[in-house]
Amino acid sequence: MTELEVKASRRYTAAIGEGLLAHAGERIAPLLKGRRVLLVSDDAVFPLYGAAVTESLSRNGLAVESFVFPAGERFKTPETLLSIIGRLAALGLTKGDGVVALGGGVVTDTAGLAAALYRRGIPCFLLPTTLLAMADASVGGKTAVDLPEGKNLLGTVCQPRLVRCDTAALRTLPAPQVAAGWAEIIKCGMIRSRALLGSLETAEPGSDPEPFIAAAVGIKRDVVEADEWDGGERQLLNFGHTVGHAIELCSNYGCLHGHAVAMGMMIVTRACCERGDCAPECEARLRALLERYGLPVNCPCTAAELLQAASSDKKREGDGITLILPREWGRCERKPTDLNELKELLELGVRA
Ligand code: NAD
Repeated sequence: MTELEVKASRRYTAAIGEGLLAHAGERIAPLLKGRRVLLVSDDAVFPLYGAAVTESLSRNGLAVESFVFPAGERFKTPETLLSIIGRLAALGLTKGDGVVALGGGVVTDTAGLAAALYRRGIPCFLLPTTLLAMADASVGGKTAVDLPEGKNLLGTVCQPRLVRCDTAALRTLPAPQVAAGWAEIIKCGMIRSRALLGSLETAEPGSDPEPFIAAAVGIKRDVVEADEWDGGERQLLNFGHTVGHAIELCSNYGCLHGHAVAMGMMIVTRACCERGDCAPECEARLRALLERYGLPVNCPCTAAELLQAASSDKKREGDGITLILPREWGRCERKPTDLNELKELLELGVRA
């Protein structure tokens, strides 16, 4: 097992290892003043892991109620959020009680926001069960639900009390979802770590994901500690995301987020290599790495379609967008960009 400490506005540990779900209660109970928790999950994850987590929480003296909502991004909504908060209120949970989120990023984002808002904040414990949620969504405190106008428009930053990533849960995760998680791990390497990229390039397929999740969490932890409130450096974590969000929008959210990020990283890297402001090796190495982890590298959308979608991206500030651009293998920079430059990058980066 690997444990990392996150020193943000709240200090907490993120643990990564096999078999942690069945022992979650031992770590959660001592952190609560109250004795009651609401276990929030979705209807794909709860049947798989809900009983083991409930049993562990109960064994450690906690009274457990559960709230299960339908799986998928479609249910990351204000309606689901209010249903969770309504349930917390109906049960009369106090500030000493807690929310335990068991699931992927949809569950951790939605339950995290409910916990942040109910009674102006009650403790939240995250038990992520997808590779993407383990390596990315569960650390850093961002919580949100979607609005009809766009993704993650209703949210806040509120750090959890504890994160426990049980890598055994990944055995039931469908392969496309596993690949989506690898995209975020590759992204962490691209922004900050040649060492992580090197390990990703040489690892045997199917090898233990724990060191890779730990490396990604470590990089995210460092970035969040430097810029918890998203004023600058944290934007590095958006590498591939501005174009990725545009791809998601163009596909009407039919494309998984991680797959869209993979294509977004590829487009921006190819464009920077063509322009000569990124080390030329990066394009071929990134393509090989993405393909090795089962990720798409060719985008089905045109540059014009992506530009239109990206123009409405939430990171647009006035006429500009801050893009994260690769400079060399394992290093990216923030660059304030206008729509003309984005157009140029998309035209260079999108291959017919
Ligand atoms: P998800 O939560 O929708 O999970 C994907 C699917 O896998 C769901 O159907 C789920 O039921 C199923 N599933 C989860 N764990 C499983 C398991 N162990 N076995 C079998 N099935 C399982 O998607 P996700 O990719 O985990 O998360 C995406 C969400 O995370 C998006 O809403 C995104 O905005 C958010 N996100 C948040 C942050 C952040 O910093 N807060 C960062 C990245 C992404």
